Amino acid sequence: MKEDYYEILGVSKGASAAEIKKAYRKKAIEYHPDKNPGDAKAEEMFKKAAEAYEVLSDPDKRAKYDQYGHAAFEGGGFGGGGMNMEDIFSQFGDIFGSAFGGGFGGFGGFGGGGQRRVKGSNLRIRVRLTLEEVANGVEKKVKVRRKVQADGVTYKTCPTCHGSGQMTKITNTILGRMQTSTTCSSCGGAGQIIDKRPAGADAQGLVVKEETVSIKIPLGVEEGMQLKVSGKGNGAPGNGVPGDLLVAIETVEHETLKREGDNLHYDLYISLSEAALGSSKEIDAVGGKVRIKLEPGIQSGKILRLRGKGIASINGYGSGDLLVHVNVWTPKELNKEQREFFERMANDENFIPKPEKSDKSFFEKVKDMFS
Ligand SMILES: [Zn+2]
Repeated sequence: MKEDYYEILGVSKGASAAEIKKAYRKKAIEYHPDKNPGDAKAEEMFKKAAEAYEVLSDPDKRAKYDQYGHAAFEGGGFGGGGMNMEDIFSQFGDIFGSAFGGGFGGFGGFGGGGQRRVKGSNLRIRVRLTLEEVANGVEKKVKVRRKVQADGVTYKTCPTCHGSGQMTKITNTILGRMQTSTTCSSCGGAGQIIDKRPAGADAQGLVVKEETVSIKIPLGVEEGMQLKVSGKGNGAPGNGVPGDLLVAIETVEHETLKREGDNLHYDLYISLSEAALGSSKEIDAVGGKVRIKLEPGIQSGKILRLRGKGIASINGYGSGDLLVHVNVWTPKELNKEQREFFERMANDENFIPKPEKSDKSFFEKVKDMFS
């Protein structure tokens, strides 16, 4: 059984339109979701009051309700399911439009409830990063030319839509009443129009200002990724919210390190002598120099894995590895003495290839490279 609309608003059956409006305003403020976060009962009361007001504020609907009760609205309009929050907030333009001079500002944000706030446009920039910056993190300072509200600009409630930003049109059709909402053409949906426009401001009261924005680049970003800096796009008029700054990531190719996912690959070239005698080599990794030891007799094609010396995972799960690919440099030119040495060694036992059984096959090595 539905409650009586007059009882919900706490007015008598003979209440005037002004009394009904006043009573609803009181209820709406009392049970507003922003004031009663998470309170389902308050929300229910809020919705009931809105529904009651919807009917009693309309002379036509009120007359039908007085005659037939709730039965008058069954099967049509907002009947069974009640009103949704969007409807309720769009109704607020009439109720609070004049009461709160500065639009909805004084009421502490209708944002969560369904009042549509106009958002400024997004700005896009590109940021170029070196591999070291990707690996070690960096804070980039970029200059952005963004629209912001001009100093001294004031806004007032849009007289066309009374602050709702929407135009509601009710048409009678053979199927019943049809309610359609469109964005208000006077204010573009902002619910507010410019009141005082300072010199130099555009029609929305905005001016272009250059601002330095600091962007903290997370570890492990990749070419083509996009970061979002909330609220650093163009401003919006009135109580609208600024758009976002969208940052496209570009990366500069590294001279010696190749990135593959979170792993890095490095081609190391050593001489025949170093391969035979063993050696110690220094490699420029992203976190600084690392020294690696090459055992005597190291084979060309060997991959040395330096754990954790790759790129930090963007998801925060550890770091990739640095894979050092050993390439033994075969001399292309030999003098007489060297030639004689290698000729002497050609059939020497130590110079005859003897692949170790434990050595990984070529295919396994390739698989390793891409793991
Ligand atoms: Zn408007």
